[in-house]
Amino acid sequence: MPEEIIERIYRIPVPLPGNPLKELNAYLIKGTDRAVLIDTGFRQPACREALFAGLRELGLRRGEVDVLLTHLHSDHSGLAPEAAQDRTIYVSEADRPTLDDLHARQVHWDKLEERFQEEGFPRHLLARMQETNPARSMAPPSGGHYQSLRDGEVLEVGGYRLQCLLMPGHTPGQMCFWMEEQGVMFTGDHVLFDITPNITAWIQMKDALGTYLDSLRKIDAYDVRLALPGHRKTGDFHQRIAQLLEHHHRRLDEALSVVKAHPGRPAYDIAGHMTWKIRANSWQDFPVAQKWFAVGECMSHLDYLTVRGKVQKTVADGKAAYYAV
Ligand SMILES: [Zn+2]
Repeated sequence: MPEEIIERIYRIPVPLPGNPLKELNAYLIKGTDRAVLIDTGFRQPACREALFAGLRELGLRRGEVDVLLTHLHSDHSGLAPEAAQDRTIYVSEADRPTLDDLHARQVHWDKLEERFQEEGFPRHLLARMQETNPARSMAPPSGGHYQSLRDGEVLEVGGYRLQCLLMPGHTPGQMCFWMEEQGVMFTGDHVLFDITPNITAWIQMKDALGTYLDSLRKIDAYDVRLALPGHRKTGDFHQRIAQLLEHHHRRLDEALSVVKAHPGRPAYDIAGHMTWKIRANSWQDFPVAQKWFAVGECMSHLDYLTVRGKVQKTVADGKAAYYAV
């Protein structure tokens, strides 16, 4: 059921079955000239049904909306070509290749898996991940009319002005959309409230976590009165940013102390010694997808420490090892 948040702006909840994120928030801005849908859900039946039922209720069908993507992740982008049909799909320049260039997408996955292997992620688990990873299987297919957005660019829809703000970190091209007059910020996955955005390692970003923390400080400067996040509920914007900064500094301390206690290990082993909010008896018992996210997050923290000279990374015979400096 769509819910009107402010005049002409609706939230369409899209369920994400079996996913710890639970729900995606798609937003529709309905003007008389055109309607713009912000984010879509996975390319999967449950998402498809909820999204298009929501749109129908608001008097719109497939092909009657432009789609505006906060970032490339498939829980946001999966249904973009189906929703937009011949209309435009807007996405940041940095996130676009992973969506509209299937070769670039494949190269992205290959390089990322190389890094996971180097970090000690077992080969048979990587193979399982290839089959089950929703980021791959529920991503948008080829096709779709993509248009790149630049930092600072303004889109006008339904009498509102949306300024596109590049906030890299969660993905290389994560964008937030700012309605200055109303004090409303669409935050995508840059700022979430009752869940911590996943910050992983990227081939395109040497220091994804450092980049993310810079983007958090950057967005903190905006006088946001209402934040509209990509998942779940909203909350106190500036307080949440302070919490997220605090969280990552705590995690950096933890990662560094694990490296000190277990020198010469790859990220897979270091992640196994960190604390996670997962109900499993041991690191061995982690579900493979959770392991993938945990190791990715661990890598982004290790990259941060490496770039700042607190940790040294060596790679020998295709295996990474970390040492405290
Ligand atoms: Zn995301």
